[in-house]
Amino acid sequence: MNDFRWWSIRGVTFAGLMWSLLVTACAVNPATGKRELSLVSESQEIAMGQQGAEETLRSIPLVPDSAVQRYVRSVAMRLVGVAERPNLPWTFHVLDDAAVNAFAYPGGFIFLTRGILTHMNSEAELAGVLGHEIGHVTARHTASQISKAQLFTAGLVVGSVVSSTVAQFAGTAGTGLGLLFMKFGRDAEYQADELGFRYMTRDSYDPRAMSSMFTMLQRQSAMSGHGRLPEWQSTHPDPENRVARNDQRVSSFPGDPDTLRISRDGFLRVTDGLIFGEDPRQGFFDGPTFNHPDLRFTIRFPEGWATRNQPDAVVASSPEGDAMSALTFAAEASARTALTAFLGQSGIQSVRQNTSSVNGLTGAAAEFVAVLDQKRLQGMVQFVEYDGRVYRLLGYTGANTFGRYRSAFSQYTTSFSRLTDRAALDRQPVHVRLVTLPRSMTLEAFNQAYPSTIEIDRLAVINGVQLGETMPRGRLVKQVR
Ligand SMILES: [Zn+2]
Repeated sequence: MNDFRWWSIRGVTFAGLMWSLLVTACAVNPATGKRELSLVSESQEIAMGQQGAEETLRSIPLVPDSAVQRYVRSVAMRLVGVAERPNLPWTFHVLDDAAVNAFAYPGGFIFLTRGILTHMNSEAELAGVLGHEIGHVTARHTASQISKAQLFTAGLVVGSVVSSTVAQFAGTAGTGLGLLFMKFGRDAEYQADELGFRYMTRDSYDPRAMSSMFTMLQRQSAMSGHGRLPEWQSTHPDPENRVARNDQRVSSFPGDPDTLRISRDGFLRVTDGLIFGEDPRQGFFDGPTFNHPDLRFTIRFPEGWATRNQPDAVVASSPEGDAMSALTFAAEASARTALTAFLGQSGIQSVRQNTSSVNGLTGAAAEFVAVLDQKRLQGMVQFVEYDGRVYRLLGYTGANTFGRYRSAFSQYTTSFSRLTDRAALDRQPVHVRLVTLPRSMTLEAFNQAYPSTIEIDRLAVINGVQLGETMPRGRLVKQVR
């Protein structure tokens, strides 16, 4: 899982930033042709992006299907060939995550999720998403974003010898991926759309697919997501507005979109068989109980808390938002050494410790207080040895509210146990399965003949159709089972 390396990433690149401030130069933006202040050189940009990409690859597995990875890469590299900055070390990966998203690190390290692939319906839509992300890189949005973010937080980084745990208290839990990199302003998003349009049309894709893609994202955003990464709509503003803008670009496009490529069936056949939604093998919630069938453990979070299975941690927060708990791996080899290392961090003091076992598993625990920015935090930490790993269960809140949460923390930290429930251990994911329609029919009729395990509204979104709309005979339609 994670050790919150985000801080050290910032620490390292800050030194580079200071250097670059001394040699700040006005550079011409490769994609827009405008002169602008550039705080980050191309080699720094690549180095930063590479760190972010490595972090992502350490935290989230890739979709194991090499045909899918190769296909996405081949579509992407053709777009790179018609874009500015073709000589960057471009890489494209599909992450095994249910969230519907795509994102770019500076220097050309681009990621799509399995979730977004299962929601798209053509290669042209894929080209639209890839073109948009390539646009963020060619227009150096990421680089300027990083320099702004780093200028903003520079004081924090320089002024503190922040331990990983205190960094977590500071609210960076779950940003171990450097997800802060991925939020751009509205103008940057519109510009990336424009560049995406440029690249996809240069490669002869029908640009109307960008509108259908935004429409899909808009419909999808009305439904709750389940991935471990944030979703597209949380990092991209105004889908309606972006459809309208793209429709405008299409209407003033000099070519005839009808002559351009969509490649619907080809795309669908490559993505046929992908897991749809959360993969329960990576852990799933059943109410407040979190089960991990592959790691064979179960744990119960406090009742009524908001929970999330993130790439780097399983976290929960109290309804009032004033208390947090998180399950992660510890780096140390035993519960006892992990506890010693935890309590040895500056700013942390042990209140009381114990080494009692947790449901038969070797454990080491402590109540502690921590001081951050003159704020006193109090919490409990429990380390548990299980199956060759050491797990860390942490719960904390403000020192003045600790009394209110003590029993919740204590129940949570001692709830870790072996998963023995057969049904939970055997839980399997569902997949996208293509069906060639034997006759024309509505999605409702299709769902009767070929039932899916997901609700029909979601099935409509992933097939890009409306309920009641008749689909022609011979069309490839996604079933999920
Ligand atoms: Zn974007």
